[in-house]
Amino acid sequence: MVTPIIEYSELFKRSIGDFTDIVQKEMFVFQDRKGREICLRPEGTASIIRAYIENNLAFLPGVKKIFYFGPMFRAERPQKGRYRQFTQFGTEAIGSDSPLLDAEVIKMNLELFQKMGLNELDVVINSVGCRTCNKDYLIALKKFLHSKKQHLCEDCKIRSEKNPLRVFDCKVPDCRKVYEKAPVIIDFLKDDCHGHFENLKKHLDALDVTYKIDPKLVRGFDYYTKTVFEITSGSLGSQNAILGGGRYDYLVEQMGGKSTPAVGAAAGVERLLLVLEESGQLKDINNELTVYVTLMENIPDPVFLDLVMFLRQKDIKTLSGFSRRSLKAQLNEANNLKADYAVILGEDELKEKSLTIRNMKSSTQEKIKITDWHNPVELMNKLQGG
Ligand code: AMP
Repeated sequence: MVTPIIEYSELFKRSIGDFTDIVQKEMFVFQDRKGREICLRPEGTASIIRAYIENNLAFLPGVKKIFYFGPMFRAERPQKGRYRQFTQFGTEAIGSDSPLLDAEVIKMNLELFQKMGLNELDVVINSVGCRTCNKDYLIALKKFLHSKKQHLCEDCKIRSEKNPLRVFDCKVPDCRKVYEKAPVIIDFLKDDCHGHFENLKKHLDALDVTYKIDPKLVRGFDYYTKTVFEITSGSLGSQNAILGGGRYDYLVEQMGGKSTPAVGAAAGVERLLLVLEESGQLKDINNELTVYVTLMENIPDPVFLDLVMFLRQKDIKTLSGFSRRSLKAQLNEANNLKADYAVILGEDELKEKSLTIRNMKSSTQEKIKITDWHNPVELMNKLQGG
């Protein structure tokens, strides 16, 4: 699903929460010509749910599975892996409260990363309970925070009054030290949420997903209920989360839709690229076979274009200078573009119905016969055979 980059700020205040860091400090907020407060979207889920409600997607059958990909914006202090504009791809599954779905979302994303060659990842899970479990927990947490008030930063003093759970998002080292001893929500889960969490663990075990439980993991959004999770990579340093997500069973209702449970996750593309680069996997992506097709004097444009299009249709990365320069100049360019092969179609080749294939690494070349210009299978056989 594609949603707008600009939304009314109100959307995020209502969903992420007024007293979260994202809404209080990190949104790029503007006024439009009519004085309406708009912002660059800081995340994807709120917009997806707005669009889900506005477009009546509840009427589609089954669990609604939606994905998105695009830029997000947060006014944070830029550092490695943390940018003011970054790219997320996210998945949302709307319409079931089953912990099977939480496990499926975690497994699916983990498998995707593993297919990219990333095997050293950690899955971290927790449960933040629901409104009912939260009541007792918030009383205990407020009591704890009150007793530590003199050690807290100014922001946390406000958080502890307005939205105590958000103190765990604080990055101030002194506060973090205090919170090591804070009560944790997992000890306050009532039957339903406790059962949900136990079942999630069972399903993850069945899916062979190894996970750690971090009772302090709360994530920076108010809309989460029950399951929250992250997938992290040790190679990223302090900004170690590649993906974050969780269940948000109240969000659809809170935004004016019919009460509908849902779960989702979002991954940061730039962080993913950093991990892929550090683990040497990016080289493989760039390693696809590259062919440079020369464009020689007196070769009709359609014959040249046919050849280029044929190779592209076979998923071969195909380049050309598109200018009839000397063969030497074109081969130099092929070399600079790091092509594996140059395919040379000159006047002789055209007359003889042949192609010359030059291996750019070994600087050796050979001529092969072609039976059909429109389907030069002999060329494919040669390229794929090495
Ligand atoms: P969140 O939307 O905060 O749950 O973040 C989900 C994922 O988006 C994180 O795990 C990161 O991979 C990525 N991410 C979040 N904020 C940033 C940022 N400022 N710069 C780069 N990536 C980010």
